Amino acid sequence: MSAAPCRTAPSEALSARFRRTLAYAGLWLSLIATAAAAPPAQLGPGDRALDLLPHLSVLEDPGKSLQLEDLLTSDGARRFAPLGDRTASFGYSTSAWWLRASVTNGADQPRDMMLRQSYVLLDYFDLYVVHDGRVLKRWTTGDTLPYSTRPVPHRDYLFPLTIEPRQTLEIYLRARSDGPVNATLTLYSPEALVPALGTEQLAMGALFGSFVLLALCTALLYGFVRDEAFAYYLCYVLCYGGYMAVFNGIAQQHLWPETPSLWGVGQVVLLMLALHFLLHFSRSLLRAKGQSRWLDRAFLALQTVILALMVAAPFVSYGTLVRPITFTVATTVFMVVAIGIAGLRARQAAAGYFLLAWSVFLVGVLLYLAKSLGLLPHTWLTQYGFQIGTIFEFVLLSVALGIRVKEIRQQSRTDSLTGLANRSRYDELVEQAFAQARAAGSTLGLLVIDVDHFKRVNDTHGHAIGDRVLEGVAESLRRQLPPQVVACRYGGEEFVVLVPRTDTAALMTLAERLRRAIADSSPGIPVTASIGVASTTDHAFADPRGLFRAADEALYAAKRTGRDRVVGWNNELPRHPAASLVATP
Ligand code: GH3
Ligand code: MG
Ligand code: MG
Repeated sequence: MSAAPCRTAPSEALSARFRRTLAYAGLWLSLIATAAAAPPAQLGPGDRALDLLPHLSVLEDPGKSLQLEDLLTSDGARRFAPLGDRTASFGYSTSAWWLRASVTNGADQPRDMMLRQSYVLLDYFDLYVVHDGRVLKRWTTGDTLPYSTRPVPHRDYLFPLTIEPRQTLEIYLRARSDGPVNATLTLYSPEALVPALGTEQLAMGALFGSFVLLALCTALLYGFVRDEAFAYYLCYVLCYGGYMAVFNGIAQQHLWPETPSLWGVGQVVLLMLALHFLLHFSRSLLRAKGQSRWLDRAFLALQTVILALMVAAPFVSYGTLVRPITFTVATTVFMVVAIGIAGLRARQAAAGYFLLAWSVFLVGVLLYLAKSLGLLPHTWLTQYGFQIGTIFEFVLLSVALGIRVKEIRQQSRTDSLTGLANRSRYDELVEQAFAQARAAGSTLGLLVIDVDHFKRVNDTHGHAIGDRVLEGVAESLRRQLPPQVVACRYGGEEFVVLVPRTDTAALMTLAERLRRAIADSSPGIPVTASIGVASTTDHAFADPRGLFRAADEALYAAKRTGRDRVVGWNNELPRHPAASLVATP
C-alpha cells in the first residue's frame, strides 16, 4: 500500500496560516504599540532623582473631551506618541494635553517619592496615578485653583507617591492653559528634594532680596536727587519684582494663596505696569524728547496701548489678551533698544550701560527660551537665565543711573548759557584752591572781570544779542586760559578766574591779555571789560572772601578810572562803597 503523502487537511492549513497571520499581525501590533509608548522609567534602588521627560508619551486633545477612562483602554493607549527628544513645551494652545509615563520600582523596598511639576503657570491640571488600570490617586490643581488644592503647599507642584517593590505605576497628566503649556516631571527622593529646594529658595531669596535692596536704594537716591528718572526706575523695579514674584510662584505662595483669580490678573497688570514705567524711565534717562519728537511720540503711543491692556486685564480672558501682550512686550524691547542706540549716537554716557543692560537681559531670556524649546540642555544657566539676566540688567541700569547722577551734579555746577563753571562751583573751587595754596605755601591769584556798560548792549541790541556777547566773552576766556586755570561765570556779566602759583606780574599780563581778547570777542558790537586783580602774594588774606573783596575793589577802581582796563589791588586803593558793610582784608 502506497503510503498516502501526509497532507494536512485544507481546513487545518487554513487555520495554521490564519494563526501565522495573526501572530505576525500581533507582532506588528505590539511593535506599533511599542513605538506608540515611550520607554518605561526604571527607578533603581540608589536613584534619588529621575527625570521622566525621556519617558513621556503625549496626546493632544483639541476637543478637550477625553477622560482618563477613555485612555485606559488599549485603543486609548495607542493614541499616545512618544515625546522623543522634544521637551514637553507645547506653546500657546487651546487643546488639552495628556502626558503619560510608566515608572517601575526595581528595588525590593517600597520607595516614597515626590513627583515634581516645576512649571508654575499651568492654569489647570489633573494628575492621575494608575496601577493595573486602577486609579490609585488623583489631584486636580493648577494656577487658577486655590493653594489648598495642592498636596504640598509649595510655589510649584509636588505630589507624594509611594511605589511598592517591583510595582509599575502609570502617571497621567492632563494640562490646559491660556498661557503656554509646559511640563517638567521629575521624581525625587526626599534626600534629593530637600537640598534642591533649599538651594532654589536661596536663589529666590537672593533674587527678591536684590529687588528689595534695589528699591530701597533707588527710593533713597530719589529722595536726594529728585530726578524723575529715579522715580520711574523705582516703580519699574517694584512692578517688575512683583511680576517676577508671580512668574516664580512666590506671590501665589506667600501673598494671596487662596485668591487665584488675582494671580492671572495680577500677572498681566504687574507686567503692563512694569513695561509702562520702563518706557517712562528710558525716555527720561535718555532724554527721548530732546533726541527726536517722533521717537518720544512712539513711546507715548506704546505706553497708551500698554495701559489699555492693563485696564482690560480684569475683564478679558488671558487667552484673548495673550497675543497683544506678546506684541507689546516685543515692541517695548525694540523701542528700548532703539532709544539706547539713539542715545549712543547722541554720545550720552548713560546709553552704553543702558544698552549693555538690555543685551545681558536678552541673552538671559534667549537662554531660557532656547531651553524651553529644547534647543539647549537643562542646566542651571539655562533654567535661571531669565533671573540671572534680570539681576545683571538691574545692576547695569543702576550704573546708567549713577552716570545720570554725575551728569546732574555736573549740570548743577555748570552755567547753562556759557558752559563755564557757575557760582556754586566757584565757591567750592576757591575754597579748595585757597586751602591748597596755603598748605603748599604757594600763591593764588584772582581776576574779577565785569563787562562794561553791558546794560547798554541789552538795551541797544536786545537780550538775545546780549546773550551771544556773554557767550563770546566766555569763549575767549576759555581760549586764552591754560587748562589748569578755571574761569567761572560769577553772575550776570561778571566772571572770575582762579590762577594758582603765579606771581603778580604774570597775573597782570594774563589779565591784560584777557581784556584784549574780550574786546575782540564780539565783532560788530563794541565790548570792553574791566578787570580787578588780587593775589595772596600781595597780602596774607584770611580767607577766600577777603581775596575776592580785594579783587572786587580793584575792579571798582578800574570802573571809576574809565573802564576797559586792568587794576591790581593794593592797600591804597579807594574802598568800594559797599566795603563799609564788611570787614576789610
Ligand atoms: P558797568 O559798566 O558799570 O558794569 O555797567 P553795566 O551796564 O554792565 O552794569 P549793570 O549792573 O548796570 O548791568 C548789568 C546788566 O547785565 C543788567 C542785566 O540785565 C544784564 N544781564 C545780567 N545777566 C544777563 C544775561 O544772562 N543775559 C543778558 N542778556 N543780560 C544779562
Ligand atoms: Mg556787574
Ligand atoms: Mg557791567
